[in-house]
Amino acid sequence: MSGNWKAICKTRDLFQNGYSHGTWIADLKGYSVKSGYDWIRLKETKVGWSKLVWNNAALPKHCFVNWLNIRNALNTKEKLHRIGVSPDDLCCICHAGSENVTHLFQHCPYVIEILELICAWLKIPKPQGNSLIWTGMRNWSQVQKAICLAVFMAVNYIVWQQRNFARLEGVLIRPAVVFNQCKTLMKIRIRCQLSKVVRANDRDWINCILN
Ligand SMILES: [Zn+2]
Repeated sequence: MSGNWKAICKTRDLFQNGYSHGTWIADLKGYSVKSGYDWIRLKETKVGWSKLVWNNAALPKHCFVNWLNIRNALNTKEKLHRIGVSPDDLCCICHAGSENVTHLFQHCPYVIEILELICAWLKIPKPQGNSLIWTGMRNWSQVQKAICLAVFMAVNYIVWQQRNFARLEGVLIRPAVVFNQCKTLMKIRIRCQLSKVVRANDRDWINCILN
């Protein structure tokens, strides 16, 4: 069996095991040193990654990139620099910070500007730290949490996509344009996935963000 095929089978097995038995927390403990995320807090609060990432409101490709993120499988410049592939570790977007997932999805001025627009649209406070964990810990209805998680996963996906465009083609779309694209896409997705039976409080909020 070739190395590539073995890697694909291993990834498939990890995915199937974690997804079907809900063992992401136990499985991810071994990744605490590599990932840089606050896994101890995650473990204490029992917020399972599977519930955060594999969410019907989110687009499958968005789930996949976020799953790669939590598996520490995105090849950021910091990682590439560490193994000698990149001459520096500077963020491809802002060129002002070491490019790791925490910088890209939380601290880069580019993502901060997008998140500000997103939060104004969703009428929620700006996330503190990791937007997925933060949303998972909110005392919101399941519908609101699912929608906000799906939107934050879309933001992470788009930021990673823009980072790749910036790195490979030297082009970058302005945050306001990215926000509008993300908003349009997620409004269509929410309309398609939304159950007709939603509680009055959720309905008011959803009507507000869809109009
Ligand atoms: Zn940056």
